[in-house]
Amino acid sequence: MNLLKNPMTRRDFLKFCLRSAAIYGGGAMMSADFAEAFMKIAHKEVPVIWLSGQGCTGDSMSLIYCDSPSLVPFLSTFVDLKFHPTLSVAQGGLATEIIETQRKKGGFVLCFEGAIPAGMPEACTIGDRPLTDVLPGMIEAAAAVIACGSCASYGGIPAANPETGAVSLARFMEIKGLKKPLVRLPGCPLNGHRLTGAVAYFVAYGKLPPLDDEGRPKLYYGQVNHDNCQRFRYFAENRYVMDYSRDKRNCLFKMGCRGPVTFADCPLRRWNRETSWCVAANTPCIGCAHPKWPWPKATGIYTDPSKIEDAVKFSDI
Ligand code: SF4
Ligand code: SF4
Repeated sequence: MNLLKNPMTRRDFLKFCLRSAAIYGGGAMMSADFAEAFMKIAHKEVPVIWLSGQGCTGDSMSLIYCDSPSLVPFLSTFVDLKFHPTLSVAQGGLATEIIETQRKKGGFVLCFEGAIPAGMPEACTIGDRPLTDVLPGMIEAAAAVIACGSCASYGGIPAANPETGAVSLARFMEIKGLKKPLVRLPGCPLNGHRLTGAVAYFVAYGKLPPLDDEGRPKLYYGQVNHDNCQRFRYFAENRYVMDYSRDKRNCLFKMGCRGPVTFADCPLRRWNRETSWCVAANTPCIGCAHPKWPWPKATGIYTDPSKIEDAVKFSDI
């Protein structure tokens, strides 16, 4: 890797490697294998294709605001991004040509954002073809598939009132009988660190990071937010926020916090250069990374769990 010509400095590179090695169980000392693998990434041996379905592009926006590494170093140093619907200059015929060329070559990591309008194919097209026609070939040709964000992971908001028959990537693959290693990275939006980390792991080890039963990396989704929340001691003491204007310290459970049932590392990973996360900003975790996000009407988003009808137990939502 020619770091002198690269926007990522040697210091940045080592920082990223050390952080990633530590994250993936390598301890403080980066192993030679791990370093070598990252050099491979630096030589851009891993093409990435990003495709979008029904979504708000929030996951792409979140990635743009990612740091350590931030987007430009990540793209220019670690990843050979072949196509992204928002970031790529290529449009129209050139874009579809790039996508088709990569499909024929295969071996890329397919990052997919948004849900898939399985019941209304014309709702989402790439070039003049429905996404539902293009996607199976891309999934078959990919080395691995990453569902970026809650819509791709579980259907998210487009599937809440699915007039388009919106489904998640996993469900779409099931319908089409497609089998491919799949990582789910839920969050509305996805925290960019989870994506850069998952891609880096795949390149470094040639396999997906350790996943839970839902296909989520255990590193990022191994514990519920509640377990690492800085307000947990107030929960244990039954001290709850009942009025936002008067209380910015106690537990937000009575304001509908879904931290106890949402597997994610938001209190640890945080957002905006690790500055803050929802509870630290005195708003409950609304469970945007939970498989049932955005929640059935019966439970609402900010409902006090004790006021949820008996038929819909908080533990079941
Ligand atoms: S604010 Fe939410 S995540 Fe934090 S302790 Fe209370 S219920 Fe748990
Ligand atoms: S704390 Fe909850 S609502 Fe906030 S980003 Fe994390 S999972 Fe989503």
